[in-house]
Amino acid sequence: MLGSPIEEIKNRLDIVEVIRSYIKLQKAGANFRAVCPFHSEKTPSFFVSPARQIWHCFGSCGEGGDIFKFVMKIEGIEFGDALRLLAQKAGVELKKQDPKLKTERQRLYEICELATCFFEKQLRDSLAGKEAKKYLLGRGLKEETLDKWRLGYAPDVWQGLSDFLVSKSYKREEIVKAGLAVERKTEKTLNNFHTYDRFRARIIFPVFDFNSRVIGFGGRIFRQSQRPDGQEEAKYINIPNTLVYDKRRVLYGLNKAGLAIRKQDACILVEGYIDVIMLNQAGFENVAATSGTALSFEQLNILKRYSDNLLTAFDMDLAGDSATKRGIDRAQARGFNIKVIIMPDGKDPADIIFQNPGQWQDFLTQAKSIHGFYFENTLSRFDKNKLEGKKEISRVILPVIKRIPNKIEQSVWIQDLARVLAVKEEDVLEELKKVKNQPENFFEGQEINRPARESVPPEKTRKEILEERLLVLIRKYPEIFNLILAEDLKLFSPSTRKIIDCFQDNNVIEEGIKNKINELSLKAEIENIVDAKKEFQDCLRAVKSVIIRDKLNNISKEIKKAEEGKNPERIQELIQQFNQVTKSRGDLEILEI
Ligand code: ZN
Repeated sequence: MLGSPIEEIKNRLDIVEVIRSYIKLQKAGANFRAVCPFHSEKTPSFFVSPARQIWHCFGSCGEGGDIFKFVMKIEGIEFGDALRLLAQKAGVELKKQDPKLKTERQRLYEICELATCFFEKQLRDSLAGKEAKKYLLGRGLKEETLDKWRLGYAPDVWQGLSDFLVSKSYKREEIVKAGLAVERKTEKTLNNFHTYDRFRARIIFPVFDFNSRVIGFGGRIFRQSQRPDGQEEAKYINIPNTLVYDKRRVLYGLNKAGLAIRKQDACILVEGYIDVIMLNQAGFENVAATSGTALSFEQLNILKRYSDNLLTAFDMDLAGDSATKRGIDRAQARGFNIKVIIMPDGKDPADIIFQNPGQWQDFLTQAKSIHGFYFENTLSRFDKNKLEGKKEISRVILPVIKRIPNKIEQSVWIQDLARVLAVKEEDVLEELKKVKNQPENFFEGQEINRPARESVPPEKTRKEILEERLLVLIRKYPEIFNLILAEDLKLFSPSTRKIIDCFQDNNVIEEGIKNKINELSLKAEIENIVDAKKEFQDCLRAVKSVIIRDKLNNISKEIKKAEEGKNPERIQELIQQFNQVTKSRGDLEILEI
């Protein structure tokens, strides 16, 4: 399909750049490698080939494909949505679609975008909006910063946004689904679907995905208004999870911070929208916010693609079982290096930046390791000179030490604890043994990416694996092909034979075969093969051996059947066959692995 939008997009975008915007890539010869984002692994087996414009994981998930397949999997979206997203990136215009064919997701994105424009206009032009804007400027945000982060204002009316969106032909149900309106349950009648706007008289912070599309919103109260029930309004409210907005997977500001996080190999985590914005404005661009929740597995997996180093700048209440503590424990177990930025009581990063940006740099340089922070924090709460205090201190610190994955680092902390408590190191070790281990597989079973689980590739048979290996060897060293006899070729599956033919004439039309050849070529390129000829011969013998084993297994089954059917002639015949096949096995026996 030459000239199709798909081809056009592939021509304009470089797969390496697109994948690099999601995960850390390392140069490996002519290709790039990374830790696979679709399965849990330590050594990178995920490869991207710029020459072929494909990616492939040679690890346990075995996933691979083109630029579209990658975006679909990592974003968890359908092909149509990936097409639109990449078309936009590439500047390729897609033909106007029948509006009925738009996906539900796509309509929610449109609602979010329109709502953002609506709120932006309110902040700019309405009377109350202008006041809200004055407030933001007064907190130190610059005019262009408001534009950059697309801040807005929701007017103090019940259906301002909803009516606007309805006028743009979106249904009230859809506005509720986008999280921007709330259904009024009590007044629901048969024909009337009563809803009202979720955000009223609030400053609006749109929340973006990696591609800077608006997917959600947070609203900060502006001018305290009394609720009818006399209770105070919450300072911040967020939309609930929707089809396009999942709090566990969102980090506010990451769309603007990704590059800086990679460059500086560290991410500053803060709590609030304004903290992110102010830090960014002051030139500290490697910053993102958790949306007021404990760090989730999903957020940690996303951060892992950018850096292993976290600097937290939030209220570190690590006593008991606070949400912060749970998040930090998770990050620690996930292998992040965590440092804690200690701020004066009652201050947040936005305040510090506003008063004195230089001071922020000092706080950054003085950040403490998480272990150091635990130590100090605990020692300040309990008396290390009293027995009860010693017990309390070890009760808090030992689980922290237990979680340190690096044994050398762990040993240093054990020594420190022994010294501080004035006890023997052996005793600390003894107590450490008693601390219940966090489940080994703290992260296993956690979905790294939703779609990956749905499409588990079928398990390959041993013969398939061997044939694939042979193909890789032939691809890398074409002269090896001369070692194959015509009768050997018959042993291979039809698809393997077809691929060998294609290697010869390079004239491939079938899409499936083309993809397979691309994958084999990439594998041939990245593999280091010591003695190709020997490996080839071993593989070939192993294929023969597998075939004979299968034959023998089949004959055995037949013999069993014949025995049950009490058919002595048939049994005789089969035993003869069995002996013949066994003979032909000859020296292959030793290769049965
Ligand atoms: Zn993988």
